[in-house]
Amino acid sequence: MNAFSQATFLASSGSAADRPPPGPPEIAFAGRSNVGKSSAINALLGRKRLAFTSKTPGRTQTINFFSLGDRARLVDLPGYGFARVPKAMRAQWQALVGDYVASRETLAGVVVIMDARHPLTPLDAQLIGFLGDLPLLVLLSKADKLTRPQQAAALKKMQAELDGQVMLFSSVTRQGVEECRSLLEQWLEKPGSAGR
Ligand code: GDP
Repeated sequence: MNAFSQATFLASSGSAADRPPPGPPEIAFAGRSNVGKSSAINALLGRKRLAFTSKTPGRTQTINFFSLGDRARLVDLPGYGFARVPKAMRAQWQALVGDYVASRETLAGVVVIMDARHPLTPLDAQLIGFLGDLPLLVLLSKADKLTRPQQAAALKKMQAELDGQVMLFSSVTRQGVEECRSLLEQWLEKPGSAGR
C-alpha cells in the first residue's frame, strides 16, 4: 500500500507540551525557506496543496503533523534561514526543532530539502548535526534548473560530504518522486520501526 496517498491534518504544535501523543512512525521534512519543501511534500503526496505553514517571517513557528493513514505520519518542520530573522526567532526554531528531533521516540527519519544550486547552508549543517544516528535523506530540489552534468556533479559532491542518502529532486518534472517514496516506504517498513 502506498502510505503517501492519503494525508490528513492532525495537529499544529508550537512547543514540546502541545505535540500530539506519539503514534505511527513519523517522517519529518525540513529545509530553508523557499527551498521547495511544500512543493516536494505535495509532489510526494500527489496533491496540489497540503502544507499550509505560514511563510511570513516573524510569525509564530509551528511543527505541523499529518496522518498518512494508520501506518505513518508526515511532520512538516518550520522553514529556516530567512535573511533577516531576529536572533530570538532563530533561537526559538533551534529549541522547537532541536527538541523534537532529539526527543521524539517515533521519529523514523528526516528528509532535508536543499536547493541543488546552493546546498548545505550553515543552517542545513546545523540541522543535520541535530540528527545523530537518525536516517537522513537529502533531496537536492529544483534539479530542473541544472543541466544533467551539473546535476551529476551536485549529487556526487553531496554524497561525498554527507552521511546519508542523497537524491536529485524536482517537483516540476517529478524527477526523484518515485525514488524518494520508495526509500521512505523502506524507512516505514524496517523491522520494529516505531522510530528509534
Ligand atoms: P518552501 O518555502 O520551501 O515550502 O518552498 P515552496 O514549495 O513554496 O517553493 C518556493 C518556490 O520555488 C515557489 O515559487 C515554487 O514554485 C518554486 N519551486 C518549488 N519546487 C520547485 C522545483 O522543483 N523546480 C522549480 N523550478 N521551482 C520550484
